[in-house]
Amino acid sequence: MTRKVRVRFAPSPTGPLHIGGVRTALYNYLFARQHGGDMILRIEDTDQTRFVPGAEQYIIEALDWLGIKFDEGVHLGGSYGPYRQSDRKPMYRQYAEQLLRDGWAYYAFDCPEALDAKRKEYEAQKKTFQYDCTTRGEMENSLSLSADEVQQRLDSGIPYVVRFKFPADTDITVHDLIRGDVTMNSNLLDDKVLFKSDGMPTYHLANIVDDHTMEISHVIRGEEWLPSAPLHVMLYRAFGWEDTMPQFAHLPLLLKPEGNGKLSKRDGDRLGFPVFPLDWHDPKTGELSSGYREKGYIPEAVINILALLGWNPGTDQEILSMDDLIRLFNVEHISKSGAKFNVEKAKWFNHEYLQMKSDEEIAAMFAPQLAAHQVNAAHEYIVKVCGMMKERISFPCELWDTCSYFFEAPTEYDPAAVKKRWKPGMTVHMTKVIEILNTVPFEYEAIHKALLDDYITANQLNMGQVMNSLRLAVVGKTVGPDMLTLIMTIGKDETIRRVQRAIDVIGEVDA
Ligand code: GLU
Repeated sequence: MTRKVRVRFAPSPTGPLHIGGVRTALYNYLFARQHGGDMILRIEDTDQTRFVPGAEQYIIEALDWLGIKFDEGVHLGGSYGPYRQSDRKPMYRQYAEQLLRDGWAYYAFDCPEALDAKRKEYEAQKKTFQYDCTTRGEMENSLSLSADEVQQRLDSGIPYVVRFKFPADTDITVHDLIRGDVTMNSNLLDDKVLFKSDGMPTYHLANIVDDHTMEISHVIRGEEWLPSAPLHVMLYRAFGWEDTMPQFAHLPLLLKPEGNGKLSKRDGDRLGFPVFPLDWHDPKTGELSSGYREKGYIPEAVINILALLGWNPGTDQEILSMDDLIRLFNVEHISKSGAKFNVEKAKWFNHEYLQMKSDEEIAAMFAPQLAAHQVNAAHEYIVKVCGMMKERISFPCELWDTCSYFFEAPTEYDPAAVKKRWKPGMTVHMTKVIEILNTVPFEYEAIHKALLDDYITANQLNMGQVMNSLRLAVVGKTVGPDMLTLIMTIGKDETIRRVQRAIDVIGEVDA
């Protein structure tokens, strides 16, 4: 019988969700959707010391913005809940007790000072201390103490932890869907803490118990969890759950744009791109980390960028919608090596996705900037300008700087352009422009003929100089779309006003 695909995204609420985490959520989502499976959001908050208020809400909001939807989860409920580990606390003890009973775990009473002293003792001998099958005999635990001594400690409420008891010198193989078989010898692994006397499990125990009881079929997570996978495989064995153990896929790291190493918040700050999906205000320091949403990235573009960081469709196709990704995604094409974040490529994707937006949608993105500049233009006019200008921008925030002259007459003229274009006699030519606009029908073809053919060409004037001076008068600098289209858009009266002002302000120049 084939098993229903059930995957989970299981973040710890320790801060804003890094885009590496978003990519993990995305791959889980694509996999679930492709297989008609379930996607679950589980919050892993067993480490209360690292809990950050607001982080859980941030994760939910970020994934919702990106269109990564869940079938069950902390915010939705479902028949395998609760979905927050702190709310599941009462159920973990029995599993720790099962391992203790079956000899897969033991109580350890070593206080922090004793552990520290042990570490120092090893350091003095240039060795590193690890709590494992070779050292556990030297420590204070239920393997080294008598049954009476153990009971006495438990009865008197001495704090303890429950540690996993790795069997000595055993090869443990993790079958990874991306890397194949990864084998590690148990002698290299430490007896990880699974449970503490305050009743809280650690990540390892809670994660395995939850994946099992939530009937998770595939664990797709970051590569940083690969070293923990042998312990997880052993836990499934110890519990007797090996036949329903999920399949593992450990995703490659997201790397810095240049050099080596994991992509960090600092790389984002340094190179000016966000490492988080949404803005995040650190509740402790008040520090702001910028997000893709607030920088003006389109969620579909972010999805496309992240999908291709570590996976490819096997073709050259770069623009892929969520539906395309759901159709094409496959674990076989996930790369084994880390994926480098490319800032320029990210901008390119955003540019491409902006072009797919309707002029109306772009106008809606532009509205806050227009309001900030107290512009009160007709809606159709704004939509028309957005349609003309969107190909020139990669982010909505660039709109005002790119096309403010459609809404405001220039108040100054670029001196370099004046020097280069506004030659002697230019006031005469500009006066002629005004005359043409006042006499010929205000239509593209008519103005083209009267100005470019019958005036500039027929009089053998310098086309570039006259047209760029006209542009300078209307825009204030020598940028912008086709000049006549620009005139047709801002209108006859406004054009004449601007040209007259340039004549008045710049005036005639000496030869
Ligand atoms: N809570 C872990 C994290 O924050 C989840 C690891 C896993 O998916 O097993 O990444």
